[in-house]
Amino acid sequence: MENNTQLTRRLIQSDKAHVWHPCTQMKDHEDFPIIPIKNGEGVWLYDTEGNKYLDAVSSWWVNLFGHANPHISHAIAQQAYSLEQVILAGFTHEPVVNLSEQLVALTPANLNKCFYADNGSSAIEVALKMSFHYWRNTGKQNKKKFVTLKNSYHGETIGALSVGDVELYKDTYQDLLLDVITVQGADNYDRPAGESVDEYVDRCFAQMDDTLAQHHDEISAVIVEPLVQCAGYMRMYDKRYLQLLRAACDRYDVHLIADEVAVGFGRTGHLFACEKAQISPDFMCLSKGLTGGYLPLSVVLTTDEVYTAFYDEYTSLRAFLHSHSYTGNPLACAAALATLKLFRQNDVIKNNQTLIERIHYNGQRFVGHKHIGDIRQTGMIFAIEMVADVDSKKAFPWQQRRGLKAYHFALKNQLLLRPLGNVLYFMPPYVIEPEQIDWVFDIMEQALEIAVKD
Ligand SMILES: *Cc1c(COP(=O)(O)O)cnc(C)c1O
Repeated sequence: MENNTQLTRRLIQSDKAHVWHPCTQMKDHEDFPIIPIKNGEGVWLYDTEGNKYLDAVSSWWVNLFGHANPHISHAIAQQAYSLEQVILAGFTHEPVVNLSEQLVALTPANLNKCFYADNGSSAIEVALKMSFHYWRNTGKQNKKKFVTLKNSYHGETIGALSVGDVELYKDTYQDLLLDVITVQGADNYDRPAGESVDEYVDRCFAQMDDTLAQHHDEISAVIVEPLVQCAGYMRMYDKRYLQLLRAACDRYDVHLIADEVAVGFGRTGHLFACEKAQISPDFMCLSKGLTGGYLPLSVVLTTDEVYTAFYDEYTSLRAFLHSHSYTGNPLACAAALATLKLFRQNDVIKNNQTLIERIHYNGQRFVGHKHIGDIRQTGMIFAIEMVADVDSKKAFPWQQRRGLKAYHFALKNQLLLRPLGNVLYFMPPYVIEPEQIDWVFDIMEQALEIAVKD
């Protein structure tokens, strides 16, 4: 039998031969071999050599209740023995019905209908198409443009990439993309010292208001990531912006799409960011944490008003003829139901407050650091921004890849951090212990020193 070292070597070699990894310059692995993971338990991942890593990024923000959570694993196994998949056109099944009922009950009041897809980007495509199609069905053919915020991220497929604004992912493909209107948001990082949050948000919002006032006749929807632009370097903004935006969208007859793919399911301290902002969007996109990080599933929730605009005789050709093969997959729905049950049983949103405070307390150690331009936190999302110079907030040149240095240092110390450029962030599974949070910050502090060294 092959021993661990042989297994590791075989996996690395064969991986190099056949696997093309996401969001990776594969040449980087000449210097840093890929890490084969064998199993996970709670916040820990174990590699084939027996090394462990605390998953401080929730495996790309999807995991909520730890790896190999017995409750969710059991629910999926049970479902697999009775029904693994069925076409969702013409048929339905108990997991998708129960899940839809629960999601409608948990999300803001106006959202009554659930349309399923299988990843975040697809959910965005669905919301964009539905919004556009709604205006067409209601006789407003000119409303076909989308407004997005600067530094936003909504996924990688062509439509989703079009409404995003992170240069690193978007610029190369510009010639393929939809023409969108990009508006400055109210990124709290850019707020001048001395200006209050309300004043700042009001001032920033004027741009959005002008855009909507001028172009509402051709605008289908505004799409935003409520409160935190996660892939956009964890930049955060105040809920007041969302409240102004909701009111303006009503005023100008434009849809509001809330992309809660990353911030949904408790990340902001509330179950949904829209709930924290006390707004109800016309479309809400959910994925990532929806299945507790187990299986790909996404959903777009929308209003009866939108639904009704599609409801007609078949021959009117108003139906939403969009589908994905795995729409509403029963295994994924079972994982989602098990996840929602954990939220209920363990009073997770309330209990996370203790973790949120612990994170805040630990974050204070970075105050006054000469290379930290910003310390920010929204609920269970914490980030620090490394800068060359604090006073001018001058960024380190991206070519220096300082975040990568922090990444490698952390890995050697049993911690999986995966910085975004010069931003070190922490977005843990909710099963993390308070003492583990302290430990993560200790390692993060050391990783920071390695990263900012000349
Ligand atoms: C991750 C993400 C997406 C895309 O989801 P995928 O499942 O990766 O396609 C869309 N929007 C936001 C806000 C995200 O963080």
